Amino acid sequence: MTVAVVPASFDPITCGHVDIVKRAAKLFDRVVVAVYARPRKNVMFSLDERLDMVRESLKDVNRVQVEQFDGLVATFARDVGADVLVRGLRAVSDFESEFQQSTMNRQMAPGLEVICMFASLDFGFLSSSIIKDIAENGGDVAGMVPAPVARRLRELHQGIAMSGPSKR
Ligand code: ADP
Repeated sequence: MTVAVVPASFDPITCGHVDIVKRAAKLFDRVVVAVYARPRKNVMFSLDERLDMVRESLKDVNRVQVEQFDGLVATFARDVGADVLVRGLRAVSDFESEFQQSTMNRQMAPGLEVICMFASLDFGFLSSSIIKDIAENGGDVAGMVPAPVARRLRELHQGIAMSGPSKR
């Protein structure tokens, strides 16, 4: 049985992430979607909110489980018995950091294979930060994020519009 881990902050999960997870679920027996509990960058959504959105967005995808994790992704991958780490590649700009991270991860977890999947044409421009920018400025993110995420962003920004600037 081949187990793959797909790690990210998912702040929030986008259609690009969902696409990578669905494609990975076709290739591997089990896919563990790993949500960073404490990413180094500032996040807009709490861990519970990010986990809920990831779970709601992937509830219809077979062979996928969603977990939170802390610490090194290589350690988490070993703990869940993963053989493969799956990453997405959007632009050339992703390549350098993915290459660097994959080298380090394979050094820390010998035997762990790192696979990069090219972003699909429709989602190659998408990132969680672009989504947050668009939503914060009143733009429509439908089609770029799963419906549960679009709903939360709408609620959040409608709330902010009515009560003043956010502390997030
Ligand atoms: P993190 O903040 O944890 O780095 P990211 O969302 O930036 O989370 O990236 C996590 C992984 O998801 C990376 O491998 C990244 O390339 C991939 N990814 C992010 N957005 C997309 C997308 N639109 N299409 C394909 N892969 C993506």
